[in-house]
Amino acid sequence: MNFDNLKKNQKYVVQLLENSFKEKRLVHLYLFSGVKEALKLDAAFYLASLILCENGGACGKCDECKKIMQFSNPNLYLVSPSGDTIKKEQIEALEHEFGFAIDKPHVFIIQNIEKATPTAANTLLKFLEELHQDCYGILLTDNLSAVIPTIVSRSQVVRFLPVQAASIRDELTKRGIGKEKASVIANLTADINKAFELAKDKKIDYLINLAISVSFEFENSNGYLSFINNKKEFEKLDKQYLIYFVEILMMLQKDKIDCLLYRNDDLIFEETIESCNLLRSKDEEVEILEILLKYRDRLESNANSDMVFTGMFISLNL
Ligand SMILES: [Zn+2]
Repeated sequence: MNFDNLKKNQKYVVQLLENSFKEKRLVHLYLFSGVKEALKLDAAFYLASLILCENGGACGKCDECKKIMQFSNPNLYLVSPSGDTIKKEQIEALEHEFGFAIDKPHVFIIQNIEKATPTAANTLLKFLEELHQDCYGILLTDNLSAVIPTIVSRSQVVRFLPVQAASIRDELTKRGIGKEKASVIANLTADINKAFELAKDKKIDYLINLAISVSFEFENSNGYLSFINNKKEFEKLDKQYLIYFVEILMMLQKDKIDCLLYRNDDLIFEETIESCNLLRSKDEEVEILEILLKYRDRLESNANSDMVFTGMFISLNL
């Protein structure tokens, strides 16, 4: 294993981990969340080599680093599902391994933590309570919503964009586009040329601002008013932009849900953090996301867009 691919394709994550490491702000439990191909395991090995390296962090040359690359470092313990689940015995084996007097840092990685059985999850939570201060855990998941909430709330969640989206966002920020807009565009298209085009498109700025004002007024039921005030301009837009609008509302909604669930320093919209204490319950925010998803699909299936938006706002009870 080497980290070139990771450094090229998940720059933001690498930077986040390196900064936390340099500033001695590493937490003891990370939860890496993202699609299967998002290089989460590579990032976990990279974080392990920051922590275990004898030369101040992922030098790639010391014994510890070399052994990590060869998958043979005794201070790095990897748990993967056995069959379809992660079993209690596997967590007990991990605990046993970490139970001896520890004279140097240890790191464990658990793949697919969402597959932990309830008893395995409980054993893990107990183990975490007694975790030695030189021990670090990195949990990986392809499906954050399936991870037991008590585990999520104990960890710092790091969201991995799919490699393509991450590289589009990085390309845009390199060209001076702000992080919020770059992240939105990276989530709207997987085509880098289209992304450059959208970055110059003033309608995207308009849609982002409108979506933010509508979305945060969901909370006090004034979202429809913001929308109505903008309706004339909005109606002139092509169907594709209307779909973008609903997709941006969905991104805002996901941000809100993340904000309600965990400490998260990787939200797309700054407004989310400012408004986190004003949000509805998690279940209500999830319900709003599902409604948005349904109406996005209706727009795509070519339904009359005026009807779609009226129906959407009625469903949202606004
Ligand atoms: Zn090293």
